[in-house]
Amino acid sequence: MQVLAGKTQNEIETLVTEALNTPPFRGRQVAQALYKRFVRDFEEMTDLPKDIRARLVEMFQLTPCRVMRTDSAPDGTTKYLLSLPDEEVMEAVFLPYAGRTSVCISSQVGCPMACSFCATGTEGLARNLTAGEIVDQVLCLQSLHPDRRISHVVLMGMGEPLLNLPEVLKAIRLLNEEVGISLRHITVSTVGVVPNIYKLAEEDMPITLAVSLHAPNDALRSELVPLNEKYPIERLMQACRDYVAKTRRRITFEYVLMAGVNDTEKEAHELGALLRREPLVSVNTIPYNTTDVASLYRRPSPEATRQFREIVASYGVVITQRQEKGHRIAAACGQLKRSALKPGSAMRPLPMFIASQNTPLESVSAV
Ligand code: SAH
Repeated sequence: MQVLAGKTQNEIETLVTEALNTPPFRGRQVAQALYKRFVRDFEEMTDLPKDIRARLVEMFQLTPCRVMRTDSAPDGTTKYLLSLPDEEVMEAVFLPYAGRTSVCISSQVGCPMACSFCATGTEGLARNLTAGEIVDQVLCLQSLHPDRRISHVVLMGMGEPLLNLPEVLKAIRLLNEEVGISLRHITVSTVGVVPNIYKLAEEDMPITLAVSLHAPNDALRSELVPLNEKYPIERLMQACRDYVAKTRRRITFEYVLMAGVNDTEKEAHELGALLRREPLVSVNTIPYNTTDVASLYRRPSPEATRQFREIVASYGVVITQRQEKGHRIAAACGQLKRSALKPGSAMRPLPMFIASQNTPLESVSAV
């Protein structure tokens, strides 16, 4: 059955008009209910006659995502495990801040990049998400939080967005044109797929690019991010320079701080030296979010974090600390899915509460 989420208003108009033999405005009503009022069910489109609703139910599926599990923190951060029509599962996080509301969404089910510290990396790639499945994460979370209008979207959930670029671009356009989210409020985070950074630059969209750097030298980065073997730091930096030159948009380098691994004075000096002459870049540090995957990694102390940041800043590099949200819930990439679907945990209600008891602060948030 055709899924309507992921199609433009014009496409929905054409599909509905042809399938039901109704005037075009009926299709427009469906598209607006979906993208403007975040309706999840044809039956709730009460501005349509009953018989049209019944035929729509027979002929189309409105949205692909269904909520499987949810976990909220006292600050309102809510993590959702969403299931898809083929029973695959992915994560999305709702992040209410003072003055803006952000969602962190997935671009793939699983991820092929196998970063050593990341929970999603351990499961490999199941499949790419379609544009409809990417957009529907925002629609679904917006429908569940009608009191807060989602203003920012970050593609920092499961998956590598630049390995699913055509669907990610289509989803970004839909979020902008149909849902009304500003391109400047959409962030794409990549581990550094160099050729696709160039492709993204060609689109010349005023979105924000975030690059997961995590280490200032190739030996360490290759240990943490296997893709670095293919696209080492100098190539990545050149791609970033070219991206900035073409788009005039700032790039944020994400740096997950792991105690004793990449947070010592040595790495801080190297990072400062690496970035000091780069125009329009900044660093965003994220304290490591403990997972059960890579128990060898630890979160640094606040003192170590402060020292790291001071050293990098002394090179004139802009460095910010990610505002942490969602204490207690396992909100880092892949964690909710892992804890919820762990063998033996399926019968427990909301097992992520239990699994995340030892998890200190959280690290998922908007850039
Ligand atoms: N593949 C993309 C986007 C998904 S991951 C990328 O790598 O950028 C989003 C961010 O979360 C990345 O910077 C990733 O390195 C980071 N991350 C993954 N696991 C984490 C953890 N346990 N604690 C903190 N950050 C983590």
